[in-house]
Order: sequence, then structure tokens, then C-alpha cells
Amino acid sequence: MIRPILRYGDDTLRTPTTAVTDITPDIQTLIDDMIETMYAASGVGLAAPQIGATLRLFVADPSGGHNAEDLLVMVNPEWIERNGEQREDEGCLSVPGFNATVPRPEHATIRGLDRDGQSRTIEGTGILARVFGHEMDHLDGSLFLDHLRGMRRDMMIRKIRKLTRSGKW
Ligand SMILES: [Zn+2]
Repeated sequence: MIRPILRYGDDTLRTPTTAVTDITPDIQTLIDDMIETMYAASGVGLAAPQIGATLRLFVADPSGGHNAEDLLVMVNPEWIERNGEQREDEGCLSVPGFNATVPRPEHATIRGLDRDGQSRTIEGTGILARVFGHEMDHLDGSLFLDHLRGMRRDMMIRKIRKLTRSGKW
């Protein structure tokens, strides 16, 4: 089921997540909904808080649905390694219509469980490392615009407030 994606301003996006203790049928349904919602929104990643579940869980597909084998489900992911730096333009399904250049690791390794509860360690470079950085931020209640400073950030927040006031957010 495609679920509504929460937007900047919703407190759920700022709530630190808790670990998934058991991959129950409800969690499997949540994972299916996250995958469907991510693809429907043409995203390359979606974290559980974005559809209202404050759990340590994200789905990602750096190919945007073009390669079935690129689909990744990460339950309770943790950082193993982060190094290098890349600066690329990125956006977020919870902040539609805005993007900015954000520093991310060039290489990143995370470890977590797949949807069958099997431990997986995944190494990412380039876009996958960026997706890891972005989604891991979501699991800590952080958003890409938190990495921006000064005028860039203020302008973005002002525009979002204006859209919110006029009921367009
Ligand atoms: Zn996002």
C-alpha cells in the first residue's frame, strides 16, 4: 500500500527511532509499504519515519527501480565505516521541491539485517554511500537541510513556512 510521506515540519521526522526487536508480519507489511511508496514517489531511498513509523529501518534502490537486484532493505543498520567526502546535489521526499549540495562520505559500510533477519554488511561508493548517509540521518531524526548553513538554510525554511501558511505544504 502506498502511504502518505510526512513532510518537513512533522515531529515524527525529528523523533529518534528505536530498534526493530522482531521482524513480525506487521514489519513485513511496513517494509512492503515502504518499497511501494518509495517507487511511487520515484525515490532512491525511504526511511520508516517518513511514513510515520519511528523504527530503525530503511529501504533503498540507487537504480530507482531499474535493477531489481539493487533493492535493499536494512533493518537496524549501524555504521561500520565512513571515509572520503563527496558533494552532490540531493533532495528528500519529505522536503519536495528543494535540493542542495550536502557533504556525504564517498565510501560507507553499514551492517544490519535484511527482511529475513539475516545479517548483511553492505559497502557503498558514490550514490549508494550518499543514500546511506541520507537514510541513516533520517533514523536519527535529522534531515539533509540540517547540513546547510546560513542563508541557504534560512531561505529554504522561509519558503517552506510560506508554503505551510498558504496550505500548499
Ligand atoms: Zn529523505
